[in-house]
Amino acid sequence: MQFKELGLDNRLLKNLDHFAFKKATDIQRQAIPVALANKDLLASSKTGSGKTLAFVLPMLHKALKSKAFSARDPRGVILAPTRELAKQVYGELRAMLGGLSYTATLIVGGENFNDQVKALRKYPRFIVATPGRLADHLDHRSLYLDGLDTLVLDEADRMLDLGFVKELHSIHKAANHRRRQTLMFSATLDHAEVNDIAMQMLEDPKRIAVGAANQQHTDIDQRFYLCDHLDHKQALLDRILDDADYRQVMIFTATRSDTERLTELLNQRKLKAVALSGELSQSQRNAIMSQFERAVHKILVTTDIASRGIDIPNVSHVINFDMPKHTEEYVHRVGRTGRAGNRGEALSLVGPKDWASFKRIETYLQQDIQFDTLEGLKGKFKGIKPRKPKFAGKPNKGKAAQKAQPKKVARKPVKRDKSFYQHVAVGDNVFVPKKRPQSDDSAD
Ligand code: ADP
Ligand code: MG
Repeated sequence: MQFKELGLDNRLLKNLDHFAFKKATDIQRQAIPVALANKDLLASSKTGSGKTLAFVLPMLHKALKSKAFSARDPRGVILAPTRELAKQVYGELRAMLGGLSYTATLIVGGENFNDQVKALRKYPRFIVATPGRLADHLDHRSLYLDGLDTLVLDEADRMLDLGFVKELHSIHKAANHRRRQTLMFSATLDHAEVNDIAMQMLEDPKRIAVGAANQQHTDIDQRFYLCDHLDHKQALLDRILDDADYRQVMIFTATRSDTERLTELLNQRKLKAVALSGELSQSQRNAIMSQFERAVHKILVTTDIASRGIDIPNVSHVINFDMPKHTEEYVHRVGRTGRAGNRGEALSLVGPKDWASFKRIETYLQQDIQFDTLEGLKGKFKGIKPRKPKFAGKPNKGKAAQKAQPKKVARKPVKRDKSFYQHVAVGDNVFVPKKRPQSDDSAD
């Protein structure tokens, strides 16, 4: 289906020409008409399937076709969980604003607050933001949302994971009027928490799911390797990078300190790697992302900070040096490759510490995952067998069990002859057995 057939404003279609896309993707084809009909939307589709335009286009169309309620308040706000994703979505929005007289601004944490206040005083028509900083501006009264037409929550589930519930509620409250339309998007929307927030923030939403979140991504070749320990992981990673015909690679580790350690090792091997983590300053983060986008660096080593939404077409390989703790993050991490119909490879290293996460991911994906090996690098680790639950089923008749549970023997009262009691004075501390009523064993 061509974009033309979706009933979008001609000015938007003209801007779409710059992208050289021929057809709308499935999620765009399904979500855009519903959004244009002013319905709230809870939409999911696989990573890299064009969700951004599926909300940007109807948001802009609505603004072009209707009058603003306020000259001061923004008409559209898009929320994203990370600064990097917000920046990327902002770029895509700007591309679609070409030739239109609308202004837009980016409001994310880590940037100067007062500069943002100044930008907000110019009353931008559209804002892309991270929820924390936007809520700060609402508190500070540098922004009002009474005239808001469209609120978009991109990667809504991740915003909840990151603990932005309070901020989402205060943004919702600031823009809580019947006119507002709310659109929620992610590749993974099957959390109970998402349902709760959707019930509160969306009104009678239409649910669209193009495929299931745990459905295998056919454009991504996913492989798994068992590892014994850190050095083994390192050796496997070296071999993978030596053998792979990669353009750019994203490597995910469990912690920030691991990103730095690994980056150093890769740079010693002259592999042009750079580390991105949340504790860097915003200007450092911006510089690193921009260098990686321009392929100055071929390898980005990062944490789940970059697992969501980032769209860099040259990323041909994703490597999970450590498995993610949150199951959905696996889907998002591997989804940094194989985007917009391109093919990608995702390789995961599974050591003893990753085993529990790996098993959860295997269950989530509903697959019986087989492990691959690399020549000369086969390890000993074969996975951890689940322990048998204690005391389950029939009683264990083994020797150990008998020892653990000594047989209960009913205590018999000591029998003494009558003469013993005759010589006991009152107050002497002597045990005198009482005749007890007959009771069942379990009461003992
Ligand atoms: P998602 O949010 O679903 O992960 P994005 O919106 O980031 O995906 O889009 C992924 C890539 O696909 C981007 O590079 C985007 O420009 C491209 N894209 C978007 N719509 C189309 C389309 N209709 N045809 C081809 N490519 C598209
Ligand atoms: Mg996206």
